[in-house]
Amino acid sequence: MNATQAIDLRSDTVTKPDAEMRAAMASAEVGDDVLDGDPTMRELEERAAQLLGTEAALWVPTGCMGNTIALMLHLQRGDRFLVPRAAHVLDNELGTAAWLAGGMPEPLAWDAGPGRPSPEAVTAAAGSQGPYYRLRTPLLCLENTHNAAGGAVTAPAEHARLVEAADAAGLKVHLDGARIWNAAAALGVKPAELTAGVDSVQACLSKGLGAPVGSVVAGPQGFVDEARRVRKMLGGGVRQGGVLAAAGLVALNRLDRLHEDHEAARELAGGLAELGLRVRGPQTNIVLAEVDDLQTWLTRLRAAGVLASSMDGCVRFVTHRDVSRADIGEALRRTAEVAQG
Ligand SMILES: *Cc1c(COP(=O)(O)O)cnc(C)c1O
Repeated sequence: MNATQAIDLRSDTVTKPDAEMRAAMASAEVGDDVLDGDPTMRELEERAAQLLGTEAALWVPTGCMGNTIALMLHLQRGDRFLVPRAAHVLDNELGTAAWLAGGMPEPLAWDAGPGRPSPEAVTAAAGSQGPYYRLRTPLLCLENTHNAAGGAVTAPAEHARLVEAADAAGLKVHLDGARIWNAAAALGVKPAELTAGVDSVQACLSKGLGAPVGSVVAGPQGFVDEARRVRKMLGGGVRQGGVLAAAGLVALNRLDRLHEDHEAARELAGGLAELGLRVRGPQTNIVLAEVDDLQTWLTRLRAAGVLASSMDGCVRFVTHRDVSRADIGEALRRTAEVAQG
């Protein structure tokens, strides 16, 4: 890292495919995945399903498409769905939950902790099934880790209580697990423990693991069969996708390195706190710093060679595979200059 090169902490999506991943992509065995299947796609989907503890999985180009497909399958036009406030499906997916899936969101407060509604709040918001002229609420959409809450995790016991509350009210559960791998790493559990009881889950391969593209949407075989049809409708059916799935397979072999990003995030948060910033304690790889003038901070950080983004009114720093611990130290030195004005 030379002195003038910017340290990119905007997102873990900036991680780039390295030589190992590019080699795997170059030598991937492929077929026509729309016509009759691609062997590397199949391998990735089986591996993802195994890790997520679901019957089947489907590769999709993006996490947004994975969430959209799930919402389209779980909702009919005009249905209401419950979702924690500031969820990605609400704030960062251009309204597709309404535009494409026809859903009306009911945002839930984080009354159980950062990013987490309580099971009681789910029960209360779900209400009871009424007569035919009442609004229907068939879905609870959860997010683990919760991005806007600073990568906050929901532990297996709390997840189980939320699923139980949804079940009791007759709601299906979709889990936006874009960073479920980070949640599992932080909690020291298997990813499958965080999907218990859900009807579908979306997980990203392109965050912190180096894959250039790809997510999976997973669930029972019948759900995945339907998801494959909707993916084609949305223009997401790809031909020799094995070239992309090969990158995903390499990514899934790297899950045990995510704790390094979490350690880097703690170091960064500690350093920012020493500079006098109010930091929301990182649980995974996302650090939120509360500042008085967000835009000024972002502009001055950029000028000092630290790229960050904004989230929930805070400066958001995300640690990832392509920033070293030395980079974190340098980012803190540069941020100190900004803090001193
Ligand atoms: C990144 C992300 C997604 C999907 O993002 P894509 O850019 O479409 O891959 C979905 N949910 C959450 C919580 C995310 O952080």
